[in-house]
Amino acid sequence: MQLQTNDTSEKKGTNLFSVPYHLENFIGGYFIGPLSGAFIENINPATGEVFCLVPDSNEKDIEVAVQAAKKALPQWSVTPVEERFKILNRIAKLIDENMDELALAETNDNGKPLWLSKRVDIPRASANFRFFATGIMHFASESHAMEDRAINYTLRQPVGIVGCISPWNLPLYLFTWKIAPALAAGNCVIAKPSEVTPVTAFLLSRIVKAAGLPDGVLNIVHGKGETTGEAIVKHPSIKAISFTGSTRAGARIASIAAPMFKKLSLELGGKNPNIIFDDCNWEKMMKTTIQSSFANQGQICLCGSRILVHENIYERFKETFVSQVKKLTVGDPLEESSKQGALVGKIHFDKIVAAVAMAKKEGGQVLCGGNVVDPGGRCSKGYFFEPTVIEGLACNTQTNMEEIFGPVVTLQKFSTDEEVLALANSCKYGLSATIWTQDISRANKIAAKLDAGIVWINCWLLRDLRTPFGGMKNSGVGREGGWDALRFFTEAKNICVEL
Ligand code: NAD
Repeated sequence: MQLQTNDTSEKKGTNLFSVPYHLENFIGGYFIGPLSGAFIENINPATGEVFCLVPDSNEKDIEVAVQAAKKALPQWSVTPVEERFKILNRIAKLIDENMDELALAETNDNGKPLWLSKRVDIPRASANFRFFATGIMHFASESHAMEDRAINYTLRQPVGIVGCISPWNLPLYLFTWKIAPALAAGNCVIAKPSEVTPVTAFLLSRIVKAAGLPDGVLNIVHGKGETTGEAIVKHPSIKAISFTGSTRAGARIASIAAPMFKKLSLELGGKNPNIIFDDCNWEKMMKTTIQSSFANQGQICLCGSRILVHENIYERFKETFVSQVKKLTVGDPLEESSKQGALVGKIHFDKIVAAVAMAKKEGGQVLCGGNVVDPGGRCSKGYFFEPTVIEGLACNTQTNMEEIFGPVVTLQKFSTDEEVLALANSCKYGLSATIWTQDISRANKIAAKLDAGIVWINCWLLRDLRTPFGGMKNSGVGREGGWDALRFFTEAKNICVEL
């Protein structure tokens, strides 16, 4: 494909998906370096080697991006939905057509197995664009008639310029989950991917340019949370912030944005319970629990990290689960046989090592895992860790209260419904929960009482993009997905006409 851009790698005649050594911001349709000239090193976590540099942008870059967005907004906000639908669908198509290159870039940047990037991350990125392209065509607002006196109708207008900030665990998947509804609703966007995994967001800049998204409608600015991220949150012209990341950063963002009366959507951390009753479908539960514990090296906010097992099946569960976890191969993410890839980087790796040390200090028994892995060869300097199962810890230990966000789960035993509810609801998070039982009445009663924004009964991570997605308690504020996302990215204005 031929692109009309100032992208330097393009000028050198390299391929659309080659990753340049210096990534660039995408502002007003231009590829430009950070105004400060400063860059951050980006490593491949499977090899430990630096493979590109990321712009270390600051408030000056954000100001330029806001000016570009301001220029584009008057036209984009009134662009007919049919036209937005076409452009977003073209972006989805280009993602699909370049699946292999994007998946490889995601794996090299994040450490996740290549088969996972191909099966989940990249297909979901195109699905996000397609879903919201279609969604905006069907988005309707309310009308309230006051008998023969008056009629009210609600306009849903774009918020204006919005900020989207995303984490490293599902890089392109979550980046596009925010950007697609924001663009569909007619906003101009200043978006920042995680500085830890910026590459697919950079490649998306090239894709949106090729798809004909007008210049300045989407501006992708790279950099650190405290500088680039906070500059987005603080900018007075950015009227809404959609953030996915840690509870710590969410609290900081809320403290800045709330006094400025910005709209805020915060998708934060989790410590999700996986509740297993003795009448469950054993085979399905076991297979899914392995996935819900360790998919993406346990680095999914929806992973079940506290496994609560009925006392009647506790010993049997422990034995089977541990023997199957031991079979999960940790290795080079490029190998099809690797069930587990690398952790995302050194800081996170050190955090996981420290969390397992803390679990031992608190009296936990490590049933399997707990060790660093050296897969050898090109991965001998990478960040690999065994999937780890721990038992013997009370619900109020640090290990069972704080998010670890890695391949570490704990087992706890329960005997009654009341006890398991108390255990499940005992921590400060409330993102998701999973329940395994054939007694559907019991499952529904428990589900209604759980502190969780999302509950799966006899399944996990079965996602319908129309459903409200988000958490309660310290897991966040607001909901994404479906109409919730389109409502977040629009302002409701009621107009009352007396008849
Ligand atoms: P993080 O909070 O460190 O960073 C997330 C993003 O926010 C990054 O782009 C970062 O640069 C930016 N950021 C950090 N501090 C900021 C600040 N003060 N102002 C503005 N931006 C800032 O999180 P992470 O380590 O990248 O991701 C892991 C966390 O994300 C985990 O807690 C996980 O549970 C959570 N998460 C939640 C969901 C969800 O849907 N609830 C989904 C995925 C990940």
